Amino acid sequence: MSNQPVVLEVKNLKKHFPIKGGVFKTTQGYVKAVDGISFSIKENETFSIVGESGCGKSTAGRTILRLLEPTDGEVWLNGENLYHIDKREFRKRRKDFQLIFQDPYSSLNPRMNVKELLIEPLLTHKLCTKSEATEKAKEMIEKVGLSEKHLARYPHEFSGGQRQRISIARALIVHPKLVILDEAVSALDVSVQSQILNLLIDLQEEFDLTYIFISHDLNVVKHLSDRVGVMYLGQMMEMAETDELYSNPLHPYTQALLSAIPSLSTTEKKERIILKGDVPDPSNPPTGCPFRLRCPHAHDRCVTDNPVFQEVGEDHWVACHLYD
Ligand code: SF4
Repeated sequence: MSNQPVVLEVKNLKKHFPIKGGVFKTTQGYVKAVDGISFSIKENETFSIVGESGCGKSTAGRTILRLLEPTDGEVWLNGENLYHIDKREFRKRRKDFQLIFQDPYSSLNPRMNVKELLIEPLLTHKLCTKSEATEKAKEMIEKVGLSEKHLARYPHEFSGGQRQRISIARALIVHPKLVILDEAVSALDVSVQSQILNLLIDLQEEFDLTYIFISHDLNVVKHLSDRVGVMYLGQMMEMAETDELYSNPLHPYTQALLSAIPSLSTTEKKERIILKGDVPDPSNPPTGCPFRLRCPHAHDRCVTDNPVFQEVGEDHWVACHLYD
């Protein structure tokens, strides 16, 4: 993986939502949903973004794809700054990056059958003729573990796992460069979850795909990822290769998240770190370190200085004054 070329570079990405109030609906403040995150992803890599609900991970995914306009920062795909492409041209490039959601039912038009759902993106992007698109739909539906007979059916006729297979087929039929999976298996039963994860791994190899996997579930993330970034209140707290992060978590937030994963080992005894309080209101974050109100190691400096996100080991990054 280390020799692979970089596909995506995210530099100091910010997405702030204005809070409007008063009689004249003036801007009274901002919710800093994403507040200066940076990372890069290599070809064929799976980079996961984890964190509790409200940490900004889904907003980050949508802002990378320009489904939300960024407040600041840059996103480079294959050496091209996506934010410098005008909107019309950008629409043409949409096929290069696909988003798969948690709930496939809401992203699949219930009035279209599976064949129509699969050929639509090919025809929209003028990638082939209708008869070629039909052939591609037949091939793709087999690749996601369904069969040609399913092409005539409608989304409501399928189970949740099958619908997610259709979403994956629809996303991959245009051969994207980058796929963002936003809680894509979270709504599925555990056994179906592992089938879909294995399918995603197989398809990644077959189609040379690069994934951003967004999830709150650290067990799932461990199974799929090459590298993991941990977000909290819109900022990246820690980032490392998966094995390194799970065996040597440095940030107190990562340590707490990992301590909550049940161990399958009968000999290993893990002490669970219980975090006090909830994630603070993102419209009114604490001064200094965003994690300090819940951190068991918070000290004076954490109240005043926001720690710098810095590399403290080989490709192991952390934002915490304990490592300054
Ligand atoms: Fe805890 Fe301070 Fe480190 Fe923040 S900077 S995680 S408050 S020790």
